[in-house]
Amino acid sequence: MVRSRGGRRIGIFGGTFDPPHIGHLVAAIDAQHALDLDLVLLTVANVPWQKAGSREISAAEDRLAMVRAAVAETPYLEASDLELQRGGPSYTADTLDDLRRIEPDAHLFVILGDDAASGFTTWERYEEVAAGATLVVVDRPGEPTPVDERFTWVRVDIPELELSSTELRARVGDGRSIRHLTPEGVAAWIDRRGLYR
Ligand code: ATP
Ligand code: MG
Repeated sequence: MVRSRGGRRIGIFGGTFDPPHIGHLVAAIDAQHALDLDLVLLTVANVPWQKAGSREISAAEDRLAMVRAAVAETPYLEASDLELQRGGPSYTADTLDDLRRIEPDAHLFVILGDDAASGFTTWERYEEVAAGATLVVVDRPGEPTPVDERFTWVRVDIPELELSSTELRARVGDGRSIRHLTPEGVAAWIDRRGLYR
């Protein structure tokens, strides 16, 4: 891959991460590699406004702690608390603005699973997001979901892992183990805080 000159190449992989799992991590490390990113920020949504109201969402601080545990010692991956610091509903357009303020010459990449990508035009100021970052999409198992052809999408192939936070919450609720589906530190945090019971 030809590297453009200038600032760092930064991936933004946003989510609720309630909890994070290996599906998220594999998507992040493969996007990092495929696009030669200097860093992928797993950006924890403060208020995931599109999910709010549909179920009880764990405290943002718990989700951030779990993402920190999930990426610990994983090169190139970092937990980001930008959206928690900002407070209120979490819009990627605002997160890109924050990052540009912090690091004006960075090249920004927004990484999405195809389910999230198919809802892209429901996002707040999505045109700004598309103008200010390269859009990256990874597949999830199941029917491929179409993405809006008005925008250019970079597709990164990843092993499709049929795994979701919903599945992990259900397993914890049923007393099934989540070992090997998420890093030990995440499972330990869920235990300690009694989440999803
Ligand atoms: P939930 O079941 O609660 O919706 P989730 O597993 O879908 O959780 P999110 O926090 O909603 O996780 O998703 C954050 C981002 O990670 C989204 O872009 C989503 O498409 C992507 N993603 C989640 N799981 C996978 C997976 N198994 N493979 C690839 N991408 C994934
Ligand atoms: Mg989801």
